[in-house]
Amino acid sequence: MNLKRNNWRLILQLGLLFGIVGLVIINLFRPETIKDFEAYCAFGGIQSFIRYAVAGSLACSMTTTQIFIGLAFFGGILLFSKLFCSFLCPLGTITEWLGKFGRKFKVNFNMPSAADKALRSVKYILAFLVIYKTGTTSELFCKVFDPYFASVNQMGPDTSVLWASVAIIALIVGSLFVRQFWCRYACPMGALSNIFSYFVMASTVVLVYLAIAALDVDLQWWWALAACCLLGYILEISNYNRKIFPLVKVQRDGNACSGCTLCDKACPQGIKVSCANKTVTSIDCTLCGECVAACGKEKALSFNGKRWQWLPSAMAVLFVALGITWGAITEIPTIDERWGSEEQFENAKVLTQYKTDNVKCYGSSMAFANQMQKVKGILGVATYVGTKHVKIFYNPNVISEKEVKKAIYSPYTSWLNKPKDNNTVMSSLEIGINNFYGRNDYKILGRMLKSEKGVYGFETEWGEPVLVRIFYNAKAFNPAKLKDIVSTKEFTYVDDEEGGTGREVSVDLDFKFMYMHLTNVAFDKLQIERRWFKPVSLTFNEENISTNNLDSLVVNLPQAKIPKFSRQVTFLGRHLSNDKAVVGFNTKFTDQEPQAVVTFMKNKTTKADLIKMMKADTLVVNFSDGSINKFANELKINAAL
Ligand code: SF4
Ligand code: SF4
Repeated sequence: MNLKRNNWRLILQLGLLFGIVGLVIINLFRPETIKDFEAYCAFGGIQSFIRYAVAGSLACSMTTTQIFIGLAFFGGILLFSKLFCSFLCPLGTITEWLGKFGRKFKVNFNMPSAADKALRSVKYILAFLVIYKTGTTSELFCKVFDPYFASVNQMGPDTSVLWASVAIIALIVGSLFVRQFWCRYACPMGALSNIFSYFVMASTVVLVYLAIAALDVDLQWWWALAACCLLGYILEISNYNRKIFPLVKVQRDGNACSGCTLCDKACPQGIKVSCANKTVTSIDCTLCGECVAACGKEKALSFNGKRWQWLPSAMAVLFVALGITWGAITEIPTIDERWGSEEQFENAKVLTQYKTDNVKCYGSSMAFANQMQKVKGILGVATYVGTKHVKIFYNPNVISEKEVKKAIYSPYTSWLNKPKDNNTVMSSLEIGINNFYGRNDYKILGRMLKSEKGVYGFETEWGEPVLVRIFYNAKAFNPAKLKDIVSTKEFTYVDDEEGGTGREVSVDLDFKFMYMHLTNVAFDKLQIERRWFKPVSLTFNEENISTNNLDSLVVNLPQAKIPKFSRQVTFLGRHLSNDKAVVGFNTKFTDQEPQAVVTFMKNKTTKADLIKMMKADTLVVNFSDGSINKFANELKINAAL
């Protein structure tokens, strides 16, 4: 028998799936169009919010809109249950439809009660791990295995192919055989939604945690998270009946009910609606309205007395709209670091700089703040990595706006066609470009110039307009072409960078060519390499220093002159600091090559041990915020043991 469906919901589910498929197709042809398929994921938003609450920083690349969509939906759980799961989650829809397919071919079965209860714990464990990792690293950890993210991004760079494949197979196979397998057992968003549904429990845990923290007890935030996950699981498997929330529930009028059980058959969650005592209180109910639509008796089922089947769908759309609007009028910074006094802030001015794509994440935001703290007159910074801009608070009596702009400027250097011969003489010229700021713009200019015969490389320098110094072969390249090149309005290239998509990308440009100076200054390759070299100077383990016991190890580090290895060089220094005998790491450019100088206490380690550490396959890097990360060692160390 065909059951009547809640068509409002079906329209929303189909619209969303078609929309996602459409975006994936667009992304195949124009990958630059969609930056992040998770940008409107409510779960990502909630993870980011938790990170913000516990660490005062926003998860990398998260937008304020995403956070507010998450908050809107979680607020909505109190009123209308788990609307996101029911109406907007593509995984929920696929799980449900696969389940129907399984039932049609009679391959599905009811999970034995003990196994059902045990498996329900998995989603709480995953919720804890995902939120803990996001809260401590500022990266959305769920991207590692999220079947949705892995599918739409074709196993992109943030995804673990192994874990995402396991998750996708579990979702497909599990959902065919067991009703709502993914949502019921594996989805961390489902666990978090349930915890929030048990509002009294969750708020009690948070209040107890805050009370303990107020007593100056050093209790980490994740203990509260662990308590919520454990209690959420216990309440779920004990079929705890929520009395208050959600405020809108499915109600059953026993007098009007004929006992036909159509509602039971229609319920995607397998809830025995026909047995409900006045109200459906199951934690699995998502207020999808399928039972209300299927019921033929006018007054038997309703949402708090109303048979408005459109109500939950309309509310789902309303919450998305609310989140987007809220996000559009409110900005949450990735970090907001202020070191100036209240008095200094009274007369402070704010400079907003856009296109700061070198500030990519929490780590680079903090590095940027540390760098700014050294500039006299700058009182604080706020970074917004999602929208690539920063705000600088400064004292105009100490530093001018122009000086602030200069201080925050990050110069760029790039070889385009590097000469093989060290003695090649390169002419140089300077051009000024407006509407030209940030690494993306500089890389695009590099791509445009790379195909020009005789252009060796370029560097940028702060200025208004930004100064670009080009090194070229005066016999092979005609500088008169530069005006047309820079003024190009649309540029197409293949994204063939390391980690790139390998596809063609088109960008609209608005660079403004302002001037050109042909200089009389010529350079050779070594001069430019020395010019672009950024020395590293790190000190560690200073408490261990005993000056009469110091020695140094000098190692050639040719890759240190290549900009793409500059992070690795710093990582190498931090990696060496794991040996408590190492007290300094510096790099310098000698006559021909860069070198690393490691200063260490000779009674506690040996040069051979240090060289061994430098040659390790993995660099273990301690960051200033206390986090530790591992990176593959890409540096070639030629020193003999
Ligand atoms: S009880 Fe009704 S509203 Fe709740 S999940 Fe089942 S069908 Fe949907
Ligand atoms: S609530 Fe409606 S669909 Fe369910 S058993 Fe009663 S009459 Fe049938």
